Amino acid sequence: MKTELVKLILLAQIDAEIDVLIENRESLPLQIKEIEAKIQALDSSLEQKTREVSSIKNELHQKTSAFHEQKEWIAEREIKVKEIKTIKEYQAALKEVAKSKKELSELEASIHSLSARLEKETNAIQELESTSAVEKETLLTEMAQKKDQSFQINELIQQQQAEKIEKEKDLMEATLKKYRQIKNRISPAVSLASKNGVCQECNVNIPPQLFIELQKLQQIISCPRCYRILYIEE
Ligand SMILES: [Zn+2]
Repeated sequence: MKTELVKLILLAQIDAEIDVLIENRESLPLQIKEIEAKIQALDSSLEQKTREVSSIKNELHQKTSAFHEQKEWIAEREIKVKEIKTIKEYQAALKEVAKSKKELSELEASIHSLSARLEKETNAIQELESTSAVEKETLLTEMAQKKDQSFQINELIQQQQAEKIEKEKDLMEATLKKYRQIKNRISPAVSLASKNGVCQECNVNIPPQLFIELQKLQQIISCPRCYRILYIEE
């Protein structure tokens, strides 16, 4: 019975390794998706910045043409003002020109601040372009690695499964049946009992009589709480 138990523990270890591998493999698509999302975020923040810069350029262009138009208009108006005959009309025209000049200086200020913003944003976009290119490359490498990992894990699983079949052949049918029944419900299907008689998977205290039986290694003993097959370290 003792060698049978040792074989069973080896089988359970392979099974546990397969479970971990499957879990790792299943987490990969999500990890890949997360990387894809990061790449997308980089792209869209760059796009957003590009849109911002182009809207500043448009506004600057519009204000600059408006500035020139207004300047011309004022110049023409100032010539015409001199030809006005009545005082009332003359004063009204002067008022109009003064208002227009005020608007012109406001436009000028606005053009200055837009130019400064454009310069700042253009520099920012250049910086963002270079940092996101580096980040993107790292992410793409990471993604390729994850895809490779998936293949490697599949190979490992196949190897472990082949080994598992060999180990199963070594076991008595009754032992294997009991093991499979437990494995179907809970993984791992075996649990180490500590030297002071505690099931290491569910932490229950194994009753003293049962623990004595377990130490004899004459039969398969299950944990009274989690039903896993218990084993002890020798
Ligand atoms: Zn237990």
